[in-house]
Amino acid sequence: MRSITILGSTGSIGTQALQVVDLHPERFAVTALSAHANSDLLFEQVRRYRPKMAALTGASSCEVPADLSFCQFSFGPDALEKLAHHAPADDVLVSVSGMVGLRSVLAARKTGRRVLLANKEALVAGGQLVMSACPGTGQDATLLPVDSEHSALFQCLHAANGNPYRRLSLTASGGPFRQWSPERIAAATPREALKHPNWDMGAKISVDSASMFNKALEIIEARWLFDARPEQIDVLIHPQSIVHSLVEFEDGAVIAQLGMPDMRVPIQYAMSYPQRLPSGVPALDLAQVGTLHFERPDPVRYPALDLAYRALRAGGSAACVLNAANEVAVAAFLKGALAFGGIARVVADTLQRVGTAPVHNLEAVEEADRQAREVAGTVVKSLRT
Ligand code: NDP
Ligand code: MG
Repeated sequence: MRSITILGSTGSIGTQALQVVDLHPERFAVTALSAHANSDLLFEQVRRYRPKMAALTGASSCEVPADLSFCQFSFGPDALEKLAHHAPADDVLVSVSGMVGLRSVLAARKTGRRVLLANKEALVAGGQLVMSACPGTGQDATLLPVDSEHSALFQCLHAANGNPYRRLSLTASGGPFRQWSPERIAAATPREALKHPNWDMGAKISVDSASMFNKALEIIEARWLFDARPEQIDVLIHPQSIVHSLVEFEDGAVIAQLGMPDMRVPIQYAMSYPQRLPSGVPALDLAQVGTLHFERPDPVRYPALDLAYRALRAGGSAACVLNAANEVAVAAFLKGALAFGGIARVVADTLQRVGTAPVHNLEAVEEADRQAREVAGTVVKSLRT
């Protein structure tokens, strides 16, 4: 039996993690849960999973139903760290969206808890801090990737047996605009961007998938998780989302991880690692799938990828700046205050204006994030007029 804290339990990843708990109640016990604004669903989850602690981060207080008095509630943004640090769980699944995840990853590690990381923004903004807080590899890993591509790479790298890899290939579905003209993409609406062909995800990551900033963030994630040089990471468009990623070794052998596109598999793999348990996900029938298609991403349709490599080469706070500018741009796009084509412009201009600085501690990362948000906000406004 492992106990787990789920930060962001009301989101797409959080609710699927609770489905894994439902499937294996003898294996997992829920210690703590958090939501940002969705108090109704949080209360329902607390009633059902009976955690010791819960947090609502988007409110400074809230009336808690009388029947939930067995659970200790906290409120406000600091409650996330409090749960990660104090709730007595073996594992902390960080599945909130956005850079707010970084503090909770570090807080969980201070008390030696294993981190199951879905939140990619924490790693992108504070990769160096996260990796030095999470030592250990293989069975001793203290950080387990939940993002499906990185879970796939993690699994493929088990075949390395101590040998270095040559290349990591991240697959990408191409999102809903794969076959659209660049002009049509530039004018896409939030409703169109939120309609992902293969995955049902939260709003932020759905927009990121349409713009390929999701893959840009994943390139940076892979750099940190697997200590890769930028030129060792590439991206392959694979619309079927069956091959979740691939590792190439020195002898030319390529190991890939395949499966149905269902996030419950990588979520459960991280939760039960190193064991594999039944997932209830239908078996992959390759004869039924028939054809697997791969292509190189078009740099004109997807300027995000080049920006990721640029940020990696610049080093320091550049990836944090890229992430912050993207968060600001996506929020503006979802509010109707920025065209879809403006997202990459905001990120490119912010990267250029803010530049890069060393990020050896959390304060430096948060300062770079704050500065980038301020500049990105100005760029959004300038593009509006
Ligand atoms: P959702 O938007 O569906 O859920 C986000 C969760 O975080 C919700 O519980 C939400 O609470 C909470 N939350 C939102 N804002 C804040 C905040 N400022 N402070 C604290 N909590 C907050 O996102 P997803 O589940 O899709 O994604 C979560 C993370 O996992 C992201 O970083 C994403 O990139 C990553 N990821 C997601 C995948 C997916 O398939 N969905 C795949 C791979 C990675 P409330 O419901 O109350 O708003
Ligand atoms: Mg992914």
